[in-house]
Amino acid sequence: MYVANSDRYEKMIYNRVGKSGLKLPAISLGLWHNFGGVDVYENSRQMVRAAFDLGITHFDLANNYGPPPGSAEENFGQILKQDFQPYRDEMIISSKAGYYMWAGPYGDGGSKKYLVASLEQSLKRMNLDYVDIFYSHRPDEETPIEETVEALDLMVRQGKALYIGISNYSAEQTLEMTKLFKELRTPFIIHQPSYSIFNRWIEDGLKDVLVDQGLGAIAFSPLAQGLLTDRYLNGIPNDSRANRSTSPFLQKENVNATIQKVQKLNELAKQRGQSLAEMAVSWILRDGIVTSVLIGASKVIQIEANVRALDNLSFNQKELIEIENIVKN
Ligand code: NDP
Repeated sequence: MYVANSDRYEKMIYNRVGKSGLKLPAISLGLWHNFGGVDVYENSRQMVRAAFDLGITHFDLANNYGPPPGSAEENFGQILKQDFQPYRDEMIISSKAGYYMWAGPYGDGGSKKYLVASLEQSLKRMNLDYVDIFYSHRPDEETPIEETVEALDLMVRQGKALYIGISNYSAEQTLEMTKLFKELRTPFIIHQPSYSIFNRWIEDGLKDVLVDQGLGAIAFSPLAQGLLTDRYLNGIPNDSRANRSTSPFLQKENVNATIQKVQKLNELAKQRGQSLAEMAVSWILRDGIVTSVLIGASKVIQIEANVRALDNLSFNQKELIEIENIVKN
């Protein structure tokens, strides 16, 4: 029987999500890869346990995570049943809908029909009464933004989601959504954008909107899917994401194109007394705007390693400038 580490809350930092009442761990665990039906269940289970033992209270899912789609939620439901029944109230579990999930006109996008049906399916797969955060996974240009907002608001009124988030929305779209949610008094509290040393799009307006509107942020792919670690310093390992045929999201070409910058960043991390993964995580938290860094992992040791980022969260001006120079040159 799993008994959670009694020291689990001692080291983790918990940050408030915008101006809401909710706090999230500075590091959260995402189940996009390595928790699906194609993966080794016991490894997935050990990663969830290890994360929780380290004070990681937040687990991020989506309807389509797998492969096959839906299987990450099913596996997570099984892990909850086996190990986490006493701990549900210590966990923040999120899900999303927005990408293709099932055939026909109602299994994709931002319509009320799709979002409401999909949350119902996610709850069944995870065997939960409610999720803590539900996200619109991406904007849908074909659906009126008001309809997506109303669907998300309905979930809260029905008690099937406690808080609402959006993901992959631009600064302008986020501002528009915020206004609509305010009218309905929906607990819309968080944005989930991609963000890393290599991926800066949120610095071009979205970060300002989040601060101005009192919203939190949880940054996905903070390690650029593994590029911002020591994973590829000596070539492309067989068991790495860049070498897995199930993942079209990180290609060998991405590794080859960035490896020189990665090597330079790795040297800088060493000077700071950190691993590159630790530096990449702490860099995201450097200005206090991002609430939580949403890491992925394929092994328990990666989670343990990434949490060590919290030992050094401060950067001096010289280090920040050097990072900019490495990225730009
Ligand atoms: P990361 O950038 O953290 O990449 C995770 C990968 O990096 C791991 O699978 C592993 O690769 C490698 N890695 C992690 N830690 C280490 C380490 N210490 N040393 C060496 N390698 C390491 O994040 P993801 O791209 O996985 O995204 C994280 C989460 O964000 C997802 O699970 C999901 O919840 C969310 N997400 C949301 C999206 C959205 O549209 N809202 C889109 C994408 C992600 P390897 O497998 O090779 O070992």
